[in-house]
Amino acid sequence: SVHLVWFRNDLRVTDNKALFNACQDKQAQVHALFTVTPEQWKVHNMALSCQAFIHDALLDLSISLAKLNIPLTVVISDTYSNAADKVAEYCQQHRVTALFFNHQYALNEQHRDKKVTELLENKTTIYAYHDNVFIPPGNVVTQQGEMYKVFTPFRNAFLRLFFSQDNASLPIPEIRAHQETVSPLKAPLFSLENTNASSFVATEEDALKRLKQFCYESVPHYAKWRDIPAVDGTSRLSPYLSVGLLSIRQCFNRLYQTEPGFLENSTSGAFVWFNELIWREFYQHLIVANPHLCKHIAFQLWTEKINWRNEQDEFNAWTQGLTGFPIIDAAMRQLNQTGWMHNRLRMLTASFLIKDLLIDWRWGERYFMSQLIDGDFASNNGGWQWAASTGTDAVPYFRIFNPTTQGRKFDPDGEFIRHWLPELANVPNRYIHTPHEWSAKTNNSLDYPLPIVDHAKARIRAIESYEEAKKG
Ligand code: FAD
Repeated sequence: SVHLVWFRNDLRVTDNKALFNACQDKQAQVHALFTVTPEQWKVHNMALSCQAFIHDALLDLSISLAKLNIPLTVVISDTYSNAADKVAEYCQQHRVTALFFNHQYALNEQHRDKKVTELLENKTTIYAYHDNVFIPPGNVVTQQGEMYKVFTPFRNAFLRLFFSQDNASLPIPEIRAHQETVSPLKAPLFSLENTNASSFVATEEDALKRLKQFCYESVPHYAKWRDIPAVDGTSRLSPYLSVGLLSIRQCFNRLYQTEPGFLENSTSGAFVWFNELIWREFYQHLIVANPHLCKHIAFQLWTEKINWRNEQDEFNAWTQGLTGFPIIDAAMRQLNQTGWMHNRLRMLTASFLIKDLLIDWRWGERYFMSQLIDGDFASNNGGWQWAASTGTDAVPYFRIFNPTTQGRKFDPDGEFIRHWLPELANVPNRYIHTPHEWSAKTNNSLDYPLPIVDHAKARIRAIESYEEAKKG
């Protein structure tokens, strides 16, 4: 028999359910395949940094698979629909008896998998696994069998189920001794546009090293430092989780191994970090229960009536980090230059775009996707709808972050701001969040824009717009 593993956002050999199960039959010939879909990626606004990260992760995967004597083929197709055709062709050409893959939950991915299932019907057996989440979506539900609309009860139900199941990580499959030896693939696997060099090394080894180091060194301080962008207090594992160089079970097991008692103390760093992994889980389950989220529709339908201003110039200023609000601008420059942004700042910049500028959250969602190396539809959509007060568990529409006081709170001395906004290097700490006050007082000129909006007025404007929409 011939087994084909179709890789997607699970680019690793350790703890990979599809790969592991494909290798269970010792006699089978195991092949691996990845479909590159540039047109689809464009439609999804996938960042160039993310494409480059996938490229490098594939090179690493091909080395690891070659050690197991499993050949990896990279097929270029334009769209998902075309990818399904190519996979079916591959199965026919190589007489594949069974196709193995791990589920992806966004709608277009589900349609692709439905198509391939139909094409292969009666010819190839399909084995699909829930590998990208702890618990298969649709299983953490209320007594009425519905998906939760709020995070905390979801988490409580999740924890009950989680500890009643086996969460062990799977090992790397054994070397296929009866298969011929293969060479790893050579770069370039597909064409890539130039991107900034990334500080994230796309290998399983690097993912595991980061995870280990984070668990030993940073987890004890996570609750305290995770909101301070100038401190390297979070794991920065999001790109690895996003393309699957690392599994969530590996995260949990490493955490548990380092701090076995963490669940008894809900304020411990370990618990707070695990809570973030459950947020990730929540958003994955949410898009399965509410497929309309994948069609650019708000969770709270009344918010579709909001009259957005959508001023293009203000949007451009936001994307470029030229709004005149230092914490917002520093954050946007971090995103543009590194493909990653600190969670606290994702919340602030999103809130600023939506509430202060009254620009449709979908514009911001799209822009983030086009820049993020860790771009993930469910988490990004969840984050944006949270900030827009259009989501499930969203911030109430009348609670609006003040970008200046938030800056003072989370970057009190302006250390983060100075790093990303060198034009403010000489502004004293006291004025770092309101640099024009300093320049007016001291007659120092500043090469930095004036605030593009008056926050107090913008706040009222936003609340009024939401209230009008709510009235219907
Ligand atoms: P850590 O604090 O170390 O957390 C560990 C892991 O938990 C993260 O790697 C991530 O996988 C998960 N996680 C943490 N916070 C969240 C959260 N709020 N929602 C969902 N998962 C979470 N995360 C993405 O992975 N991809 C995105 O495209 C994305 N877009 C976002 C957009 C907005 C507007 C907001 C507010 C948040 C978004 N997030 C997204 C969630 C979060 O900001 C990032 O996961 C986090 O900043 C990644 O850094 P880290 O790995 O150091 O996180």
